[in-house]
Amino acid sequence: MTSWIDIAVPTPAHSLIGGLLTYRHVPTADNNLPLVEGALVRVPLGSRDLLGVVWAVHGHAPEGLKEGSVRDIAGALQGLPPLPAAWRQLVQFAAQYYQRSIGEVAMAALPPQMRDLNAAQWARRLKKPSAGPSEDPGFAPGLPLSAQQADALAAIQAQAGPFLVFGATGSGKTEVYLQAVQRQLASDPQAQALLMVPEINLTPQLEARVMARFGAAQVVSMHSGMTPAQRLKSWLAAHTGRARIVLGTRMAVFASMPQLKLIVVDEEHDPSYKQQEGARYSARDLAIYRGRLEGAKVILGSATPSLESWHHSRPAAEGGRYQRLLMPERVGAGQMPFVRRVDMNNQPRKTVLSAPLLAAIQARVERGEQCMLLLNRRGYAPVLHCADCGWKSECSHCSAFRVFHKLDRTLRCHHCGFTERVPRACPVCGNADIAPLGRGTEQLEEHLAELLIAVRRPDGQPVKILRIDADSTQHKGALESQLAQVHSGEVDVLVGTQMIAKGHDFRRITLVAAINPDNALFSSDFRAPERLFALLMQAGGRAGRDADQSAQSEMWVQTFHPKHDVFAALKKHDYPAFAASQLIEREQAGLPPWRFQALLRADARSQQVAQDFLNAARLALQASGEDNTDLQTWLTQVSLYPAVPMSIQRVANVERAQMLIESPSRMALQKVLAELHPVLHSQRAAPAHKGLIRWLVDVDPLAI
Ligand code: ADP
Ligand code: ZN
Ligand code: ZN
Repeated sequence: MTSWIDIAVPTPAHSLIGGLLTYRHVPTADNNLPLVEGALVRVPLGSRDLLGVVWAVHGHAPEGLKEGSVRDIAGALQGLPPLPAAWRQLVQFAAQYYQRSIGEVAMAALPPQMRDLNAAQWARRLKKPSAGPSEDPGFAPGLPLSAQQADALAAIQAQAGPFLVFGATGSGKTEVYLQAVQRQLASDPQAQALLMVPEINLTPQLEARVMARFGAAQVVSMHSGMTPAQRLKSWLAAHTGRARIVLGTRMAVFASMPQLKLIVVDEEHDPSYKQQEGARYSARDLAIYRGRLEGAKVILGSATPSLESWHHSRPAAEGGRYQRLLMPERVGAGQMPFVRRVDMNNQPRKTVLSAPLLAAIQARVERGEQCMLLLNRRGYAPVLHCADCGWKSECSHCSAFRVFHKLDRTLRCHHCGFTERVPRACPVCGNADIAPLGRGTEQLEEHLAELLIAVRRPDGQPVKILRIDADSTQHKGALESQLAQVHSGEVDVLVGTQMIAKGHDFRRITLVAAINPDNALFSSDFRAPERLFALLMQAGGRAGRDADQSAQSEMWVQTFHPKHDVFAALKKHDYPAFAASQLIEREQAGLPPWRFQALLRADARSQQVAQDFLNAARLALQASGEDNTDLQTWLTQVSLYPAVPMSIQRVANVERAQMLIESPSRMALQKVLAELHPVLHSQRAAPAHKGLIRWLVDVDPLAI
């Protein structure tokens, strides 16, 4: 029987939201299967042939359809179980909430190789073992739990959640997640669990730990570091139920898992859970939605929760929706590091490493302990400068400076990639004496080597310094081998960016130092203090993880503002106090989590056009509210601000502007965004906006 089918295809990003396309299916002799919702099909679009997902099947032609305007589907993928209804619902919700088309979100959520396989290749992939979960080899037993771990696990067993496990670094949260997974899988032979981590490449340790516990056959990974073939293989294993545990980064929230019963979001505060292009989804927030949708328990965990999650986990009597579980103590005798603040006002001008910090590093190295120095800036110096004429190493394509990289003698723009050899002399006045301003990790590494040149390790060898940052780890496998050097004890002092602060279970680090964290205190981004606090707590958490360490571990902070709230709370390891003060500030300033925000961004050939486009859309929306009472009501709850240039206004010769939209009501914000969409389309066509390149919406943006 002929049917008419709504199909999610990856139409251009800014076509109508929700835009499903209708096709016709006429069964033939060799293709007579009835098509069901969730099936994968190939359809013609223009002159192309695209993969799509069947969203709805109708027995009759849609009303108003012009005869002959509907094309036939080109074929169906045979043998693949359809995508579950819950998966489609998740995709549909994400598309709506983040203002993209269903087809775009659906296709981005599927492994890219799916698009490219022909029928024969498909048949081969699907022939591989597919039925049911593999034999249960029995799981390795977990560790005997501490009292606080046992309490947390018991609460997770007994209640519905969602849970926020608020536990110190090294308190044994991971062990609790693993045992929660273990119980879930043991109680139901089909059950599946999703374990999300911010950066899988940074945490090979966790992957190994999960595989050791559950058996490699039960576990698949999903992250962008995998080859297309590996991703498809993992995806199929999860989709067919063969893999019972999916370990992945943010993309894994869209994994098709028909028997999903438990979701864990580790380090839930981590900004990398937010996708920064296409549909700008928060995998953490979608995990909560998905858990509710599928009746799966959701566990968020962090030592420094996002203020959003912290706020949601306030007592139920005050409106909290998550259950907060506390794990304040570290496992075993490992102590939290003692925090020392060095007041840089009392140090000689231009000091990089203060004398007491240097002495402390030296003493640790001589005892055979490791130190970790954190500086959130790669390269040698952020700017080159001519003192004679004032020239600075600006990028000619961006409103930003190019960074001086001394190792390869280049000036590199970290925004557009524009790279040149370092000039011998000032390009403007010819002065030969151009000098670096400020410092990055390369310089810190060089400087340390000079300062520690006479220092010896217990074995009499000179000090070994290693730098880990985006530059040192460009080549595949570089990060793994560098981390291995740290774990083996070969390295004495580790220098790096925030890359080294997250997650690693370094056993011999007893001193962590933040060299120059002050920038974040005065950022225009209201989340900067929250991020800095989390980073420093995480970094401090790398110290003293080994209970056998006799020495008290230390976290050093060099700052010109030692009294600042962030450092005062850090000193006391007091996240709740920090969060409480931030929440009060946010409430007074009308910021999240008290308000909801969206950013509308426009890129154009000129700043004027970018801003004009946004402002015109705002005015047009307000005008259309005048004869639409629903919209008018929603608009009274929503503030639309005038367009402003972005903080880095120009990148790669593109001018960027943004407009903030905010509301105390998530619903009102969503309604207004939905109405804004057609307005943006019509404004785009206006002659005044010639030169507009693109626009995008970021709902719940992380950076303002
Ligand atoms: P977190 O995730 O809170 O940072 P982990 O779960 O990684 O903490 O635990 C930190 C360290 O303590 C790990 O090396 C882990 O193997 C160990 N550990 C965790 N729980 C226990 C326990 N109950 N008994 C002994 N060691 C434990
Ligand atoms: Zn000059
Ligand atoms: Zn540039």
